[in-house]
Amino acid sequence: MNRGFIRWALAAVGMLTAAQSFGQNYPTRPVTIIVPFAAGGPTDVIARITGEYFSKALGQQFVIENVAGAGGTTGTTRLAQAKPDGYSIMMGHMGTHGAAPALYAGLKYDPQKDFAPIGLVAGTPILIVAKKDFPAANLKEFVAKLKDPAAKIKQAHAGVGSVSFTTCTLLTSQLGVKNIVAAYRGTGPALNDLVGGQVDYMCDQIVNVVEQVKGGSIRAYGIATAERSPALPDVPTTKEGGLPEYQVSAWNALFAPQGLPKEIHAKLADTLVQALEDPNTRKRLAELGSVIPDKAGRSPEALAALVKSEVARWTPILKAAQTAVK
Ligand code: ASP
Repeated sequence: MNRGFIRWALAAVGMLTAAQSFGQNYPTRPVTIIVPFAAGGPTDVIARITGEYFSKALGQQFVIENVAGAGGTTGTTRLAQAKPDGYSIMMGHMGTHGAAPALYAGLKYDPQKDFAPIGLVAGTPILIVAKKDFPAANLKEFVAKLKDPAAKIKQAHAGVGSVSFTTCTLLTSQLGVKNIVAAYRGTGPALNDLVGGQVDYMCDQIVNVVEQVKGGSIRAYGIATAERSPALPDVPTTKEGGLPEYQVSAWNALFAPQGLPKEIHAKLADTLVQALEDPNTRKRLAELGSVIPDKAGRSPEALAALVKSEVARWTPILKAAQTAVK
């Protein structure tokens, strides 16, 4: 055998071993989970619960970095442009990876091309929630108020393209009304103002509102799913409340930048599957009303398919609602 070939073969084996051990040893330093909204909101809470499991399971801290702005697209752009080395991942959601392309003509990322999907973490039913002294006894009366221009109802959301924006846009376009809106950097801070009575209502992911609805600091007019949630069994569905056409749920999921090494991708995806089997993690997510995906629904492939179908679902709805941001 010629010496050149032996040298080449040895170098190739060396490179292969280095690449494998790079993946096997991962992570060797802290990992950043970008949350594209303010601290305290649903995306942040779900990321912190997931991150705690990952930190324990993989022996390095998974640290949350809140990169809020532009309905979650600022943080998502940051992740799309990050090095695909496994040390930057994000907690995205239906807004950042489903709705945003229809709303931002100059969006700097493609949800279907620029990410390595890791897996779905939680389904999050949507609730219509209002300040506690909102003058409506039920969903029907609430809808009547929304339709009354003299009532000057003020809706809170987490920025154009966010879940709250998107799902309330669906509601107002179904009802043919226009609200005064207040944009926040996440529904965590929006919720504070709802509790304080500075805004009238919002449409938000269940994870953000269970505690306040139970405690009575806000009121819930309906949950937009076919069944009531075990986390809030007293809240009627929109169908029960007389608004059956308003059916909508959101979700949160982990993504890495496209180009993630295969071994690292597999390690992160496997860890997520285990996290969602872990009784403590499951309990914490379920208490907040999250719908935990079954095993098949946790795979990177399932998430890629979800992103594709969500972009296809939301684009015509949002275009029709004429909310395109130039
Ligand atoms: N739930 C928020 C939204 O409307 C975001 C957040 O604060 O997590 O997209």
